[in-house]
Amino acid sequence: MEKISALIVDDEPLAREGMRIHLEEHTEIDVIGECGDGASAVITIRDLHPDLVFLDVQMPGHNGFEVIEAVGADRMPTVIFVTAYDEYALRAFEVHALDYLLKPFGRDRFQQTLQHARAILERRRAGDLGRRLLALVNDIKTEPGPTRLDRLVVKSGGRVFFLRTDQIDWIEAAGNYVRLHLGDESHLFRETMNRMEARLDGRRFVRIHRSRIVNTERVKELQPWFNGEHVVILQNGTRLTLSRGYREKLQEQLKRGAAVSRAEAPRAGQAKNPDTGEIEVLRVQGNVYLIGGGGSNVTVQVGPSGSIMVDSKSGPLTDKVLAEIKKISLSSKPVQYLLNTSADADHVGGNEAIGKALGSANTWTIINTPGGSQTAVQVLAHDNVASRMTHLPASAAPSETFVGREKEFYFNGEPVFMYHVPNAHSDGDSIVFFRHSDVVATGDIYRTDSYPVIDLQKGGNVQGVIDGLNLVLDLAVPAHHEEGGTFVVPGHGRISDEFDVLEYRDMVTIIRDRIQAMIAKKMTLQQVKAARPTLDYDSRYGATAGNWTTDMFVEAVYRSLAPATTSTR
Ligand SMILES: [Zn+2]
Repeated sequence: MEKISALIVDDEPLAREGMRIHLEEHTEIDVIGECGDGASAVITIRDLHPDLVFLDVQMPGHNGFEVIEAVGADRMPTVIFVTAYDEYALRAFEVHALDYLLKPFGRDRFQQTLQHARAILERRRAGDLGRRLLALVNDIKTEPGPTRLDRLVVKSGGRVFFLRTDQIDWIEAAGNYVRLHLGDESHLFRETMNRMEARLDGRRFVRIHRSRIVNTERVKELQPWFNGEHVVILQNGTRLTLSRGYREKLQEQLKRGAAVSRAEAPRAGQAKNPDTGEIEVLRVQGNVYLIGGGGSNVTVQVGPSGSIMVDSKSGPLTDKVLAEIKKISLSSKPVQYLLNTSADADHVGGNEAIGKALGSANTWTIINTPGGSQTAVQVLAHDNVASRMTHLPASAAPSETFVGREKEFYFNGEPVFMYHVPNAHSDGDSIVFFRHSDVVATGDIYRTDSYPVIDLQKGGNVQGVIDGLNLVLDLAVPAHHEEGGTFVVPGHGRISDEFDVLEYRDMVTIIRDRIQAMIAKKMTLQQVKAARPTLDYDSRYGATAGNWTTDMFVEAVYRSLAPATTSTR
């Protein structure tokens, strides 16, 4: 079994010892450190990346919750809170604690909590693996483009795992391989020095020798050696010789480096998809592709009978989108179906242009014309979407609608399901499930770049969003080992797996519960906003400007939940 690395954080030495004794009978847990206060816990979590933290809630200085805030909720390992007071339990649960141990606790309670933690860790690992594999595949696909390598898959000691490149101290050439040095560990990686140098972030990694690359953030000092050569001394004491030809570049980098990397190093998991407006095509899985960029996502299924598009982006991009679909098509037949997940302009904006380019079923009045072929595009959507598109030209509106829970059909050898998600982002949302390819396109109930947009005017509601995310989770099956699992294409943002959706669902649920509790205390909307119920997620999903700010989200949740009689001022 894979070892679980654990950190014990408690200000009382006796409590730490007690925890160690409890853990002694669990050989799969490797206690990698102990901390007696919050500040050192923050540093140790950042440095050692334990899988699991036993976190004392009440500590002098920084308490357990402050530790989480300082590390960043999205970077925290799995946590088991340890507390002497029950009142913290509920709050602990809110910040993603798996469970908590109320002091004093017995062996049974400890076992039970640990077992739960292990189950969550397994799931987390599986989910992460899927996502990282995908990122890796995308990295490989886009090379030798400007994409920077920020994680590697490493095989070492019989296991395969992922390594963030910023964890690497330095790299040395080793035949057909390179050796990656990280603290006391080193791993072989199959790559040449030149390609390694080309693909790593040049602001952080600098070549100092024909056979050495160093992470400039780890450099402590540069010491003159002899013959004009220098020695690079790393923070951990490692000494590496620097070849003359490389000195200037390193010194230049050291001068600028610190400032630059501190200013813009994104926090893990926080990087928002920079949308350059360029169309980007990625194979998701099976016969399904993502056409991203330029705002919303389009999901495309290709096959011998032609293609299905889920959503159409905005009008001006239509030509480009159709050109990309042509490139990935498996037949000469064009798009046969266009499914709309909502009536939003950024998802149906291309409908009209596509109808014009390929023929619209709505304006295709002569049926069964001898010699005529059925080339018109069928536009499918929930009935509520159609009723919101009546102001648009007929060629843009759905030619076929459905009411009730689902619409299913069979195309290109695969069952395709369109599920209505009532009153979520709006009242007409659908998600689309390609059952054979095992891909779900969610529309805007799920997006990786912001809080869910809840359009109250069009019948949206936070509870519907949560129900919709639960439906996605019902359809999705995680990858238990290394490959496969359901992939999820969000309305906006990057391809995800079940674990990403699970985290998002939990986030929405937690915020809903917090705001619900505030409403129960008769807090006004202003007071709720001021209390910042989204604080721990804002770095990842929040916005202070643009179409969907954090305040707007909080207000939409508040109004979703507040009884009509409550003052919403
Ligand atoms: Zn959208």
